[in-house]
This record gives sequence, C-alpha cells and structure tokens, in this order.
Amino acid sequence: MNKAVRKAVIAGNWKMNKTPSETTALIGEMKPLVKDADCDVVLCVPFIDIPAAIEAAKGSNIKIGAENVHFKASGAYTGEVSADMLKEAGVEYVVIGHSERRTYFGETDQTVNLRSLAALNAGLKAIICVGETLEQRELGYTETILKFQTKMALTNVTKEQLKNVIIAYEPVWAIGTGVTATADQADEGNGFVRAAIAEAYGADVAETVTIQYGGSMNAGNADELVSKVNVDGGLIGGASLKAVDFSKIVAAASK
Ligand code: PEP
Repeated sequence: MNKAVRKAVIAGNWKMNKTPSETTALIGEMKPLVKDADCDVVLCVPFIDIPAAIEAAKGSNIKIGAENVHFKASGAYTGEVSADMLKEAGVEYVVIGHSERRTYFGETDQTVNLRSLAALNAGLKAIICVGETLEQRELGYTETILKFQTKMALTNVTKEQLKNVIIAYEPVWAIGTGVTATADQADEGNGFVRAAIAEAYGADVAETVTIQYGGSMNAGNADELVSKVNVDGGLIGGASLKAVDFSKIVAAASK
C-alpha cells in the first residue's frame, strides 16, 4: 500500500441544510480554520447554495461541490440539474450515489453509473458513494456488495477518467446514526473497494485512487480513521455543519 501517492480529501456533505445566507456565514467561519490544510478540502452543498458558496470560498483553499447531478444533458427532467449547469456555475466536485439518494430517491447502481459518467464527461470530479446495509454486513456480504457497487459505478469509466474519481466507502448503518465503523472496519471496507478497482484497472492504478471513509466521522474519531492505510480522508455529514469540528477533521487528515 502506498498512501504517499494519494492525496487525502476531506469533503463535507451538507445534505438539506443551510440557506444561502447561512452558507456565506459558515464558509466565512471555516476559511481561516482550514487555510493551512495539507489535504484537499471540499464542501458539497445544496444546489441553491452553490453561488453563495462559490462566492464565499473565493481566494481560499475550499473547493465547492454539489450533492447530485442528473445523467442527461438537458430536457424534460423537472427538478434535475445537469453536469454542464454545475460546471458553468463553478462547481468542481459532485457526490453521486449517496445512500440517502439510493434509499429515499430510488437511485440504483445503474443510475449511479450514468450520473458518474455524466459528471466525468463534463470535467467534474465524482465522489461516488458505496456501502453495505447492516443486514448485508451481518449476512457476510460486505465484500461482495462493495465490489459489486464499485464495479457497477465505474462501468465504462476510462483509466484517464478514473483520475477524477473518489470513492467514499459509507456503511449505510453508520451514516447519520452516531455509530462509526471501527478504524479496522473502515480500513477493511476501503480495502475491498481498492481490490475491486485493482480487478478492473490493475493494482498500480488502484493504488492511486483516493478512497474516503464516511459515516459519523467526527473531531474525536477522525485521527484514528484517517491513520489507516486505506483511508484517504472522509466524507463528512453532520460534523461538516460545525466549523470547528470540521476543521479538526481537516487537521487530522493533514498530519
Ligand atoms: C454523509 O452524509 O455522507 C455522512 C457520512 O453523514 P454523517 O457524517 O452525518 O454520518
């Protein structure tokens, strides 16, 4: 394993939180706290907050992402937002296939793949989420699920495009529950994802891909999680809504 070739990325996922004015205030608070980060710092915000976030983050090391993207370029898809729209708005990253999208909004491995391709073809960086449910873990299917979801999400993604892919291993049972995977469970899950990438693209390529852990990562447990060889940063929900907590996670990933 060669963690030195991969850059840690700490990405906040604000979910359906913060208005535009609250966005401006929170990013204003965060900027001085994360300015010395030795990792990439990303905030993925609701669509409506994107202009405020981009304006507030100007001149800082904070990059802005969206929380979803549609797979069609344009057309009769009421309520959806295309990759070109995001790109032109100044967005650099987009979360795809978050478990809340899969659970509440009918995302499938196929639509996750299509959305990933649309994002990558538009020049966005895709943060693709994979993860097993508690039932799947208890039945012993964690490796099977993670490898399947990873390979499905990356279908038709070229080796060149893979440079713009981050995978976030997010056990469904750990998201927003306060239950964090142990550092060893996170490392093992990320290892399964890396093995799936190695099977599809070769071991050398797999070593270069950033694989985050997500699921109740916070200021108290980030140090141990990101110290693991396969954990290249995190996708952070709740703790990314608090400037000090988020900055402590960024500091942990900067060591
Ligand atoms: C997430 O939204 O991706 C997430 C990991 O949430 P939380 O940190 O709140 O568990």
